[in-house]
Amino acid sequence: MIPGDSVHLCQPGGGKSCGACCGLYNYADSRKASLSLRLHERTRLFREAVRGRGDLPAYAARILETEDPAKRYEVIYCCEYLGFIDPEERKVGCLLHPCGNGGEDLRDASFYGKELCAGHLCPSYHYLSREESLSLVHIVEDWYLYGLCVTDIDLVKTWFRLIADRVHEMPASRRFVVGPLRDISLRFFSLKLTWPYRSSDTNRLGKYYFDGSRYMTRPIDYGALGCEPSRFDGIFQSLASEFRHGGEIRRAEGLIQGYIDDFAARYGAE
Ligand code: SF4
Ligand code: SF4
Repeated sequence: MIPGDSVHLCQPGGGKSCGACCGLYNYADSRKASLSLRLHERTRLFREAVRGRGDLPAYAARILETEDPAKRYEVIYCCEYLGFIDPEERKVGCLLHPCGNGGEDLRDASFYGKELCAGHLCPSYHYLSREESLSLVHIVEDWYLYGLCVTDIDLVKTWFRLIADRVHEMPASRRFVVGPLRDISLRFFSLKLTWPYRSSDTNRLGKYYFDGSRYMTRPIDYGALGCEPSRFDGIFQSLASEFRHGGEIRRAEGLIQGYIDDFAARYGAE
């Protein structure tokens, strides 16, 4: 049950949604093109072959047989029932949900079961304010980027804190619907995909990596790089950064600062 006036972060409307807690990003190959193809094929097979719950075992066996099972973290389940739920394939979602099955809830056939699937709310529901949630929903329209960002609480809160500090107020969420403030913020969040200093380790997702038994963060060793800890350290960690020398850190700081400066300049001008 979604609390009070919370934004429905899983399915916020528009042309996107999130499937992160169904294991979407836990494949070793979690590039957008690979995930899109995986979800497309699953959805096609499900629509062709599943007429009722009796067809689910054969569907699941076929997925096991045909998909690349390599995962980022073995302990996290990747659900075979995550697919696309709209004809345009802009929204990821549960193929077993009653909305797609004539009102019948088939989720009891899944690994987590109906109650867990229906009742789970990730920590973003708790930690993101309503304005932060609404603003993010306005800013990011693409399902792949949206799921990466909505689950990165630190990144979202840090961006809105940095710009609010700079313009001396939290911008109202409606200012992110369209226009330059939205575009600058989208470019910032798109660093999740384009960050030039991102580590290529497959066991890293955002600030966390998995050592085989525990999730851990890998602090940036500023001392070894001959510099003081960066004021953007939290952002660097969210972007899974790996720096080779202090010059890269200074360039990275310049990139982030550029987005904040651009935002402040346009904020006053609007
Ligand atoms: S990770 Fe959070 S926002 Fe995404 S589908 Fe799960 S509960 Fe919803
Ligand atoms: S069955 Fe549960 S884990 Fe699988 S896609 Fe549906 S909601 Fe996600």
